[in-house]
Amino acid sequence: MIPFNRPHLTGREFAYIQKAVEAGQLAGNGQFTQRCHSWLESTLGAPRVRLTHSATAALEMAALLLDLQPGDEVIMPSFTFVSTANAFVLRGATPVFVDVRRDTLNIDERLIEAAITPRTRAIVPVHYAGVSCEMDVIVDVAKRHDLVVIEDAAQALLSSHKGRALGSIGHLAAFSFHETKNVMSGEGGALAINDERYLERAEILWQKGTNRSAFAQGAVDKYTWMDVGSSFLPGELVAAFLLAQLEETRSITAERMASWERYLDACAPLRAHGADLPSIPAECQHNGHLFRVLLPQHVSRAETLRTLNARGINAVFHYVPLHSSPAGRRFGRTASSMEVTDDCSARLLRLPLWSGLSAEVPPRVAAELMAAVLAHA
Ligand SMILES: *Cc1c(COP(=O)(O)O)cnc(C)c1O
Repeated sequence: MIPFNRPHLTGREFAYIQKAVEAGQLAGNGQFTQRCHSWLESTLGAPRVRLTHSATAALEMAALLLDLQPGDEVIMPSFTFVSTANAFVLRGATPVFVDVRRDTLNIDERLIEAAITPRTRAIVPVHYAGVSCEMDVIVDVAKRHDLVVIEDAAQALLSSHKGRALGSIGHLAAFSFHETKNVMSGEGGALAINDERYLERAEILWQKGTNRSAFAQGAVDKYTWMDVGSSFLPGELVAAFLLAQLEETRSITAERMASWERYLDACAPLRAHGADLPSIPAECQHNGHLFRVLLPQHVSRAETLRTLNARGINAVFHYVPLHSSPAGRRFGRTASSMEVTDDCSARLLRLPLWSGLSAEVPPRVAAELMAAVLAHA
């Protein structure tokens, strides 16, 4: 069986965990957490990055930083993971869904401005598959309407747009280190704080609403309750594991990119049968996070998945669009036609991809996929 994902180890995880245990600090914000922060800050060129338990937690921190009021609106794609919307729904805000582009499956930047109302507070571009949204246009719209940009960069570590690291462009950005992402710690995440106005408060929210960080730095002489907050920081064991992964981000990414390119080559003949393969805009450097195919219109995805599974290949689909999910219908609304979202999400298939995937796998998977497509046309 070829699994969809296989967690990749770099080899230093256990040694770092042992060091953390020997150092005697296992709670959060110790030396490994701080080394992860430094790595992320210097790699992204972000003024401050704080580890969280997940991208979900990082998005929740971002939503808290915005001081959202019930009825405030946040513009986002419907083709995304539930946490993109849930973080804002928890604050009483309304997710406003717009359609995606056919080439990248990212939010269609041309539809954003028409979705803005007097209640709009933020735009959340999601960099699907680690491919950048049209950040110039999005940042410009946000500036003109005084909106906050929160990048959902959960899949986008080490990707860039016109040479700028994803996650360093919006005011705030969330990363994920979930087991299925390129670099992982089982569960894990980070919030990049790129706008100075949020720096001080982010520190307080991160530390349960206290000024513990300022106290630890000797900047204040009492440590007390200052604001709302929660326990967003992971313990040192998770940070130690994560640091071992972060240090190998470049080689992990290079390996995934090589597999991704092999898939693109091997799947090329599917185009003649009506399948759509990813096409990466010239100004986007992606990170090989996932390889997806949009099946031909007339081919049953359920049958194709069943056939691939029977042939030992664990391909999977992605995202029931949020606007058509029970909670999406209850908490959100659409601000455009969802034609591309509905069409693409119904045809999308993700193929097995991980760091260290053997070079023989992509041609084999592509051949099985071609056979399945021909059988179910
Ligand atoms: C994985 C993912 C998340 C959630 O990440 P967690 O770390 O599991 O909370 C959010 N948004 C997108 C786009 C993701 O791919």
